[in-house]
Amino acid sequence: MKVLVPVKRVIDAYVKVRVKADGSGVETQNVKMSMNPFCEIAVEEAVRLKEAGTASEIVVVSCGPQSSQETIRTALAMGADRGILIQSDDALEPLGIAKLLKAVAEKEQPELVLLGKQAVDSDHSQTGQMLAALLGWSQGTFASKIQASDGKLTVTREIDGGLETVDLKLPSVVTADLRLNEPRYASLPNIMKAKKKPIETTTPAELGVDVAPRTQVLKVAEPPAREAGVKVASVADLVEKLKAEAKVI
Ligand code: AMP
Repeated sequence: MKVLVPVKRVIDAYVKVRVKADGSGVETQNVKMSMNPFCEIAVEEAVRLKEAGTASEIVVVSCGPQSSQETIRTALAMGADRGILIQSDDALEPLGIAKLLKAVAEKEQPELVLLGKQAVDSDHSQTGQMLAALLGWSQGTFASKIQASDGKLTVTREIDGGLETVDLKLPSVVTADLRLNEPRYASLPNIMKAKKKPIETTTPAELGVDVAPRTQVLKVAEPPAREAGVKVASVADLVEKLKAEAKVI
């Protein structure tokens, strides 16, 4: 089974995000960038499928600026086989990305596309679902467990109030949730090996995909600052404050 794993380069999840002074977006200059955490989980799962003998090849793909190559290299160091960079300096939206991934899927013919459930920069959580719809493939979103057998996938999904198990006919699109696995750190020898793995570069134009934005960001603003908390001396004090000040009991 060939697995395609789309990975996004985002502001590192542990960096405090700052809004640009003119409100046009967030500051990305001199900010640490990393692979989106849910994409790391998707890469890890693909590598485990390969280690288990289920996956035959893992191809990672990233859409974005030239620097996204670094993110592809990280995935290659974790165990992916080769990479594809769809280079674009434009602001890409989930629909545009899904169209680019569809073009790659049609060329590469994977049996499984394994994405993150969400990119932590824009929080869209749309790309996997749009890709499955565009391809007309089965989909299992928010996966916390994936089992492959006899040309089908059994996916346990995290849903409101519990878990749902679905059987999917391949080819399929699956998005990884937090509990699917704990991604590995790439070892130094694997980081060195990853330098020799191939990365092909293409562009939206070469793939014949129109990625012009359909939405316009009007303004980005910081959330209102939270008021400082207070320490109370006793439970009685707390109850009194909840009654008299917060008026919640
Ligand atoms: P989103 O729908 O933006 O929340 O992203 C969900 C998932 O789609 C991510 O975890 C990635 O697997 C994939 N994805 C989103 N943006 C990109 C991108 N620029 N390049 C490659 N994959 C992406």
